[in-house]
Amino acid sequence: MIRPLLSRFPARKHRTQTIAAVAVLGAVGVAATACGGGGAGGAGGGAGGRAASATGGSSAPSTSEARPSSPSSLSSPSSPASPSSPSSPTPSPRTNADVDCSVAKCIALTFDDGPGPDTGRLLDVLKAQNVPATFFVLGDQAVKYPSLVHREYAEGNEVGNHTWDHKDLSRLPAAAVQDEITRSADAIAATGIPRPTLVRPPYGAVDDTVRTVAGAPFIMWRVDPEDWKYPDPARVADQIVGHAKPGRIVLSHDTHKTTVDATPAVIQRLKHQGYTFVTVSTLMKGVGLRNGTSYFNRPPAITGGGS
Ligand SMILES: [Zn+2]
Repeated sequence: MIRPLLSRFPARKHRTQTIAAVAVLGAVGVAATACGGGGAGGAGGGAGGRAASATGGSSAPSTSEARPSSPSSLSSPSSPASPSSPSSPTPSPRTNADVDCSVAKCIALTFDDGPGPDTGRLLDVLKAQNVPATFFVLGDQAVKYPSLVHREYAEGNEVGNHTWDHKDLSRLPAAAVQDEITRSADAIAATGIPRPTLVRPPYGAVDDTVRTVAGAPFIMWRVDPEDWKYPDPARVADQIVGHAKPGRIVLSHDTHKTTVDATPAVIQRLKHQGYTFVTVSTLMKGVGLRNGTSYFNRPPAITGGGS
């Protein structure tokens, strides 16, 4: 279960993946990556140079979306079989939920692959800083750490779906893609929170089949500190802050201790620059997300394409 598909995505030796792709609304198809280290499926996103279609760009923004190592189990699994959430918590009001990111200087921190052993510490940091984030949770982690998934939501963060066990969806038949997404959504909902509506495909890998059956918009990323590759808090913080721009989505992983270590500095520095932290849904408010469409950042207000 450790990085089952990593072989498809050889470790990158270049830095150009630091920023993933740019959504170019209205564009059809994807400009090929300029990055030699990118994986199959056109997955390599250059340093902001690859354009992916917001109407269904065919490839991943970056391949650095790594599977975590197996965490230890903290609590007993909850059944993923009951998608309803009779005990849904009343979440604290979503911090900054009323912010209009078409005007404000917004940025969305996202954390993938968890929950894991360091997620609670990250939640402490976010809560102390009054910063909301978006967690793209794996179903098989949700059943190991249901209380952490519940806490993520209850403390004002957003919880999205990162599939059941981090398979490359673009290599699966339709029924298996659906199962990966549905099973994970069930497990997340079974923690007592609303069923997730956003999907982040592992490795950012999607194809026509995935786009057709996913039944959700795909939330990619625009800033990638490659935290899985460089377990150095200072570097992670520098990469995120250095590539931050209004409307961008930042990818990182709460499964890496060093990423959690980096987060206080990231928040402090970006706050100092005037950023408002928002969840992905707040960032995208008014955009009109469409199922099967990939989003890498908040689209510019004026584009030639979709909305
Ligand atoms: Zn992942």
